[in-house]
Amino acid sequence: MDRRSLFETGATLGLGALAGCALPGAASSGVKTPFTVAATHLPIVGSDMRFPVRRIYCIGRNYAAHAREMGSDPNREPPFFFQKPTDAIQNVAPDTVADHPYPPLTKNYHYEVELVAALHKGGRNIEPAQALDLVYGYAIGLDMTRRDLQRAMGDEKKPWEIGKSFDRSAPIGPLHPAARVGHYTQGAIWLKVNGQTKQNANLNQMIWNVAEQVSRLSQAFELMPGDIVYSGTPENVGPVVRGDVIDCHIDGLPNLGIRIT
Ligand code: MN
Repeated sequence: MDRRSLFETGATLGLGALAGCALPGAASSGVKTPFTVAATHLPIVGSDMRFPVRRIYCIGRNYAAHAREMGSDPNREPPFFFQKPTDAIQNVAPDTVADHPYPPLTKNYHYEVELVAALHKGGRNIEPAQALDLVYGYAIGLDMTRRDLQRAMGDEKKPWEIGKSFDRSAPIGPLHPAARVGHYTQGAIWLKVNGQTKQNANLNQMIWNVAEQVSRLSQAFELMPGDIVYSGTPENVGPVVRGDVIDCHIDGLPNLGIRIT
């Protein structure tokens, strides 16, 4: 893969294409509504089209060392999933640093760098051998987490949605079509805060690879075009505070950067 050409292509997307989510004039079916609701799209590198996001699925504890640090046994736990609302997406232009607001209610705001797979086909009960046929492309994403709220709700056996599924909790870079870049099964994945390495692992250390994740997801939900899958984070998650800059990387993708404001 030619990394430089990906950078250049990403740059041509321009900030204007990334700043907003709504596409004027999109999705009018003649239905009258008292107001409009913005749709969520991801820029597609090398294309003037954008990828419409239907659902955001996230897989939990998918790297053994991270499962251990979260207090579970990586050898026995099947993959589990949660969702973020579609409008939690924060589009971030490649190789820039986007402002990201520190969210309310938390005092322990954590980063989780993740490979994101985007589906352009759906289905039920997909076999792992066919699952990558559903994958349109990949992006680098952050599963931002209000860890204190997640843990407190978990301790009370309540849904920990408030810790995971909040505004702008899903910063993400542009989508790279698999037709151009292939499928990501190995390669470095790392995250730095203020230049200091925090997370550093390899995609091949996933407990359940992307094909297996899509297969398992399709047993629980009917997958549809537009679904995206956050594939889990490696070990050494940790907190950030206002002013911190997060820089994260997956081999073959432009870096994703945010500044906590
Ligand atoms: Mn995660």
